Amino acid sequence: MLGKLAKWLRLLGYDTAYIHDAADDVLVRVAVRENRITLTRDHSLAERLLMRGRSYLVTEEGTGAQLRQVVRDLGLTVDESLLFTRCPVCNSGIEETPKSEVQDSVPPYVYRTQERFGRCLDCGRVYWKGTHVEHVLQALAEGRQKKV
Ligand SMILES: [Zn+2]
Repeated sequence: MLGKLAKWLRLLGYDTAYIHDAADDVLVRVAVRENRITLTRDHSLAERLLMRGRSYLVTEEGTGAQLRQVVRDLGLTVDESLLFTRCPVCNSGIEETPKSEVQDSVPPYVYRTQERFGRCLDCGRVYWKGTHVEHVLQALAEGRQKKV
């Protein structure tokens, strides 16, 4: 249910596991074993995990609002140096890659206009610091402006 939020948290550099459609018992076990905070929209799951202090109920609608809720309530910080360090698809680390090595992996326009590229150490996808990270930062900024 929170797949897009998971991607956005990864774009901010947060180690975010995403388990889709697993039984509650599996989620509880993984959360405890890997010492994770479980973000969920499921009240009963949140209550079960809350006893161990590891759950957080996401109540907002829309990914931007959800991200602002999580960042605010869990006290997450946006660290510029961590942006663009984690693969949004598989959560593995991204390693900076010389431009000359990615020509065949990116669209020609991107190759012409971007200078810095990174490759996921696990799935091999190539990333550039383009619009993805900007979208996330913009969504966070919007929330701040609304409060003023
Ligand atoms: Zn990856």
